[in-house]
Amino acid sequence: MPRRPVIGVAMQTLPAKPGGDLPTCWIMGQRYVEALRAVGALPWLIPLLPQDPDTLAGIFDRLDGVFLTGGVDVDPSRYGENKHPKCGTTDPDRDAVEIKLLEHATVANKPVLAVCRGIQILNVARGGTLYQDVAEQVPAAMKHDYFPTPAQPSRSYLAHEISVKADSRLGELFGEPVVPVNSMHHQAIKDLAPGLRPTAFAPDGIIEAVEGEREKFLVAVQWHPEELLDTQPGMKRLFTAFAAAAA
Ligand code: MN
Repeated sequence: MPRRPVIGVAMQTLPAKPGGDLPTCWIMGQRYVEALRAVGALPWLIPLLPQDPDTLAGIFDRLDGVFLTGGVDVDPSRYGENKHPKCGTTDPDRDAVEIKLLEHATVANKPVLAVCRGIQILNVARGGTLYQDVAEQVPAAMKHDYFPTPAQPSRSYLAHEISVKADSRLGELFGEPVVPVNSMHHQAIKDLAPGLRPTAFAPDGIIEAVEGEREKFLVAVQWHPEELLDTQPGMKRLFTAFAAAAA
């Protein structure tokens, strides 16, 4: 059996109970872990210990790749802006650990796959900025915030199409220029960071994917492919290619 690649996933801070005085917890959505398992990777959930670089470095050294998942908004102070009223909850510990993870991955040239918040923290880590609320700040934009509600609970709802650059890794993986995706984001890339190439766009011009210009494997998408593994073969191929690059 081939060696299974170890993939690091930073968690997110959450109180054990709202308003309670129980110790704070770290959490991570099960779908992300399941998607890694489905392609043979070994998930390693990373504690948020930005004040303990030795422990983080010890964990990073044992990783073969990094998976940046969805989650709360990146703190706007990370890209030099005040918080917009429509910007949501932030998790500065998670921001700090994911930025360190990305620095490590860059130095060690380890594969990175990023989803939703992941494409946003990647862009910020590399010096870019974000729309803090697309609906508010991009009047011509279409609806991107199809967050599940009791009436429409599906995280796999195909909300809009993207056009994919043919001469990109995503173009190769999908094999078609237009792909339907789900869309559960209210933020998006504003100023693109240097070294990142946009490889997919929504019909309104919002950047839906970027790839590293120099890295072995650096792919970041604004949608949630982990929810589409069983219905869209291209999404499974994306995770499989990531695990293969890390193995
Ligand atoms: Mn979208």
